[in-house]
Amino acid sequence: MDYQSIINEIYRDLMFEEDFGQIATYIPELAKVSPNKFGVHLYTHDGFNYSIGDAREKFSIQSISKVFSLSIALSLLGPALWKRVGVEPSGTAFNSIVQLEYERGIPRNPFINPGAIVVADLLVTYLKDTKKEFLEYIRALTGVDTIDYDKDVAKSEQRSGYKNSAHVNMLKSFGNIKNDVEEVLDFYYHQCSLSMTCEELGKAFHKFSDTNSVFSYNGIHLSQSQVKRINAIMLMCGFYDESGEFAFKVGLPGKSGVGGGIVAILPNKYTISVWSPRLNNKGNSYMGVRFLKQFTTRTNQSIF
Ligand code: GLN
Repeated sequence: MDYQSIINEIYRDLMFEEDFGQIATYIPELAKVSPNKFGVHLYTHDGFNYSIGDAREKFSIQSISKVFSLSIALSLLGPALWKRVGVEPSGTAFNSIVQLEYERGIPRNPFINPGAIVVADLLVTYLKDTKKEFLEYIRALTGVDTIDYDKDVAKSEQRSGYKNSAHVNMLKSFGNIKNDVEEVLDFYYHQCSLSMTCEELGKAFHKFSDTNSVFSYNGIHLSQSQVKRINAIMLMCGFYDESGEFAFKVGLPGKSGVGGGIVAILPNKYTISVWSPRLNNKGNSYMGVRFLKQFTTRTNQSIF
């Protein structure tokens, strides 16, 4: 398969399209990013790299980080994790609070904000120096020691994160947050502020795309079955209320973030990362979804 030519062709075709979508401005620091950035990176299981555009430029990975935090929580707690957070698609926006009250403080899944905040609470409980250990794990997954939090993004979100404050307080009222709410949000905002390139995300998610090998990085161990389950949650919940449509159009497990990044996986075959900051009305990269739809169509490769 000539992946590079396919990537080049889709990239060129999309360049000629009118670009719809809006950059996320509710986190003021993200509004400073150039909306025209566009990078793609493909990392195959046999070790080949293909890329185009801004694939080596760092951007705010935002909710893509929820896959990393979930993997740590699953490793530390095992099945007990599912007492605190579910595995059902929410059918709601990433920051919606409506289900939380009538489901008595148990978020539908770990990728909507309230679910990720519960996972953040678990990490604050179980890791001694949460921010440091989280970062060490990401560095071990990628082999890149320079990966870091973007403190300006974290601060910016801390100042404007009214909905996340509502989530954490609602969760706390149901007893599903064990630590100080501010401490939990501080870690959550830091994990979301991680700054990485498409290439680095490819290296990290490569570990989740391999369901045949032992997963063991920096003291975080996952069984093959746990890795498969993380992929199942990505397929069903990775794009919030666009998860069904993403499976329908693209056919890969994946995860998006409001920084405009998307990482998708074809298990045991490849990891593909796309970054384009303008978002569709579901909060997922407009061009990212379009690119991946074309990619799985033209390669005729998906999980189905
Ligand atoms: N940090 C963002 C928030 O909490 C993450 C949202 C996202 O990427 N979908 O709102």
